[in-house]
Amino acid sequence: MSQPLYLYNTASRAQERFTAQHDPVGMYCCGPTVYNYAHIGNLRTYIFEDVLKRALLSQGYSVRHVLNITDVGHLVSDADTGEDKIEKGAQREGKSVGDLASFYTQKFMENLADLNILKADLYPKATDHIPQMIAMVLELEARGFTYRTNDGIYFDTTRFPAYADFARLDPESIRPGERVAMGAKRSPTDFSLWKFSPKNAKRQMEWESPWGVGFPGWHIECSAMSLAYLPQPIDIHAGGSDHIRIHHTNEIAQSEAATGRKFVRYWLHGEFLIIDRGKMAKSGGNFITLNALKADGIPPLAYRLFCFSAHYRSPLTYSPEGIKGAKTSYLNLRRSLAGIPDQGIAYWQNSGNVPDDRPEAIIPLLVDFYQAVYDDLNMPKAMAALWDIVRDEKISHGLRRAAAGKADEILGLDLLAGLPEQPVEEFAGATGPIRLSSAGTLNDGQKFDIVKKVGERQKARSEKNWAAADILRKELVTLGAIVKDLPDGSAEVHC
Ligand code: AMP
Ligand code: ZN
Repeated sequence: MSQPLYLYNTASRAQERFTAQHDPVGMYCCGPTVYNYAHIGNLRTYIFEDVLKRALLSQGYSVRHVLNITDVGHLVSDADTGEDKIEKGAQREGKSVGDLASFYTQKFMENLADLNILKADLYPKATDHIPQMIAMVLELEARGFTYRTNDGIYFDTTRFPAYADFARLDPESIRPGERVAMGAKRSPTDFSLWKFSPKNAKRQMEWESPWGVGFPGWHIECSAMSLAYLPQPIDIHAGGSDHIRIHHTNEIAQSEAATGRKFVRYWLHGEFLIIDRGKMAKSGGNFITLNALKADGIPPLAYRLFCFSAHYRSPLTYSPEGIKGAKTSYLNLRRSLAGIPDQGIAYWQNSGNVPDDRPEAIIPLLVDFYQAVYDDLNMPKAMAALWDIVRDEKISHGLRRAAAGKADEILGLDLLAGLPEQPVEEFAGATGPIRLSSAGTLNDGQKFDIVKKVGERQKARSEKNWAAADILRKELVTLGAIVKDLPDGSAEVHC
């Protein structure tokens, strides 16, 4: 694909032309904290990341996609306080942490499969990478970026001058301040790298470390796992927009402090799915799962289509009406591609001006579609471009279908899956067989008229009576039939 790909990079707050530094392109996505079901807000972020990956693949890049599983260390508050979400979830459900995490990881994988999200190359679990995290903290300690408090080892953000840059934080906020609600932290923005196990409560998950028994901070997980599997600087790192201020800011600080090198080249962030004017959050009560939608008769891919109704950098408001509208739209799209008339869509009719449905005819049709995709994944615009093709009565049905199939490599909506094949019927002709393909809507009388004229035309052509052949071609067009003559004397007819 020759069109360039432009992506909005949070680091520069600008749209930049994407170029790869590594082959395959390295792509790290912050994964779920597996203490509960993923909600459809979380899934919006993974859908956006999937479109990003498909866009890269369509550009001809290979992609090495790492999606981590957070199964320890993510505390209830992003400010490093409160309980560990996994430990708390295990208590809630009376399960071991391992059983809890593997149950919700499995459910998450089912959601991804339902949404046609392409499989990542690796799903590293935080609990399998404790040695890499300890190694990184040791490196930070050796370089003088850490300090110890009574409850853990902390990153000293005042030692990393660029700390405020990524999230455009007010520099005031990183000055050492009053120790209000900060525990023993020196600055409000400092964050834990390693936490000591509490003295009064027994954790299920804790490990020996050079600093005593404890568990890692959440942010160090993503730095250690991304650098364990992807070459630095990592081409792309993505997540939800809530990660900009704390999680990704901290990942950058500790990774660049530990390695002395740039961590990531392109940072991409998806905006939130919101509900009732608030965000949808696993910790809040207002969350909807994909299975709940399914139980309501909403196909998961209709939710995927719903996500394409807003740009990934705009908030999207969930509403039952909105999702029902997406379902109708999804069914209409598939119905029209199947050639089944629908009140919303004029049934296709061939006019004379029809290209072949050869692959080289498909790509020019999709120029607007790809332009929208490569313009920072503008999916509302891409969907509008696809609808324009699907509704265009000047394009043969076969070609529209082929174009939709190609676009679906990006969309992942299974637009053609399970649709009846366009039937091809064969009739004897004058100089060779006549193969008639239609959307299955012609009656026998119409077919007879068409086949008869094609046979007459074959005969005229064999007699080099081009004028007669031309008249017959035009008559066939008025019957809705487009003839393609093949060198062996047979004819293909698209209706
Ligand atoms: P978590 O499991 O909470 O660590 O979140 C998993 C992913 O979902 C992260 O990339 C979050 O930024 C993202 N996320 C969380 N809530 C929402 C939401 N309401 N809409 C979109 N993405 C979200
Ligand atoms: Zn992360």
